[in-house]
Amino acid sequence: MTRLDCTVTTCLHNSDERCCKQAIIVDGSDAKDTYETCCGSFDENREGAFKNVFRTPENRLEIDCEAVNCVYNRDRHCEAERIGIIGDGASEAGHTECATFLMR
Ligand code: SF4
Ligand code: SF4
Repeated sequence: MTRLDCTVTTCLHNSDERCCKQAIIVDGSDAKDTYETCCGSFDENREGAFKNVFRTPENRLEIDCEAVNCVYNRDRHCEAERIGIIGDGASEAGHTECATFLMR
């Protein structure tokens, strides 16, 4: 389980810069840099005003990750103690990235 901070406040699952999902998937099977990764679980909050009031942010998440070039990736699972997903203002998954990606 990994602690996750997420600045993608345009995502439906975001509350107070934390994620309300219990598990996410990070994409980027060919990634060699952070910008080539993204949060595959991103869903746009189209109304913009919806607040995730009925769900609480998760302290720790399971993170499946396709970015196998990252040092924290083991068998397509993230083993980092803490990661950051960034992409303020994102309107699609491709605008987000795992800022913690580190090339092997
Ligand atoms: S972008 Fe990903 S990590 Fe961030 S709140 Fe949305 S689903 Fe969770
Ligand atoms: S730190 Fe590495 S293994 Fe963990 S989610 Fe980010 S890219 Fe994937």
